[in-house]
Amino acid sequence: MLSFIFAFDESEIKMMGYTHSLSAAATWLALVHHGVVPITDHPTIFVTTLACAGAGMLPDIDHRNGTIARSIPPLSGWICAVVQRLSGGHRQGTHSFIGVGIFWALALSSPHYLWWGVPWLSIILVAYAGGLALRTFGAPGGWLGAVAVASFTYYSSQPIEFFPLVIGVGSSVHILGDALTRRGVNLLWPLTIKAPISSIFWKKSGNMALPILGASGSRREQFLAVALMLYIVWVFISLSGFFEW
Ligand SMILES: [Zn+2]
Repeated sequence: MLSFIFAFDESEIKMMGYTHSLSAAATWLALVHHGVVPITDHPTIFVTTLACAGAGMLPDIDHRNGTIARSIPPLSGWICAVVQRLSGGHRQGTHSFIGVGIFWALALSSPHYLWWGVPWLSIILVAYAGGLALRTFGAPGGWLGAVAVASFTYYSSQPIEFFPLVIGVGSSVHILGDALTRRGVNLLWPLTIKAPISSIFWKKSGNMALPILGASGSRREQFLAVALMLYIVWVFISLSGFFEW
């Protein structure tokens, strides 16, 4: 499982995909641990963490050759191409304050979209995110996993409102992660305020960054990925009641 972290010949996008998923999952678990998201039953914690890992890749729906574009061809490729065009290109609209607002609006409003009493939008969002995470980590079963996540979400005794929160959390963590890389993001989209003097924090392209991770796929990012994975494993072991924390 660790092989991907040390696979230096991986493409930049793929490497970032793993880190985005791990950081989203770790953030979700931290929120659950501290009671911000009041989920207590273990299966729901597991499923929502998985879905949050997938949601951690959602802002890259603006990339017509990325993981999301290849997820359910040809439909996903068409959607990504449209989003890429509407959002001004990669790391623009979907990686901005407006993008964060849209992801959160989707997360918070989806439980209210009902069809015969079924919160279909929440179920689709959570199931897609869960399936995306399973594909990212190379789990067997493909999209069958997404069907399992969908039925779990539908039949869970936990309030449906908790589930789509993963969309808001995962996408926000993604944008923060990209902002920590050298390329940065255009947080103010659709405004593009070009830096009068280009620096690592504010570029002529208008992108802003706090590049403590360096370039995408850097050693620092790989270190972070390992640390996040250890944290996730530690929390799951703790939750199993193996030791007190
Ligand atoms: Zn991104």
